[in-house]
Amino acid sequence: MAVQKRFIAGAICPRCAEMDRIRAWEQNGIRYRDCVSCDFFEQAPIEDDAHSELETRVNREREEQRSDTIQTVRILDPKGR
Ligand SMILES: [Zn+2]
Repeated sequence: MAVQKRFIAGAICPRCAEMDRIRAWEQNGIRYRDCVSCDFFEQAPIEDDAHSELETRVNREREEQRSDTIQTVRILDPKGR
């Protein structure tokens, strides 16, 4: 497993205040950051955000568009009314 160290664009080192000197990488559930200008080093556990991707986008549009066939049934009953 190759660890990719990536520079964080715009990140300012809290120690030497240099910008774009912070590298970050993750390994074994820990997020590391260090500075290439000074000896700043930091590690913090990656918090498992509960971003469980619950896809509740179930598009169940039950629009039973029954064609309005209005059946005008006329019962011609002379005895009616
Ligand atoms: Zn630094």
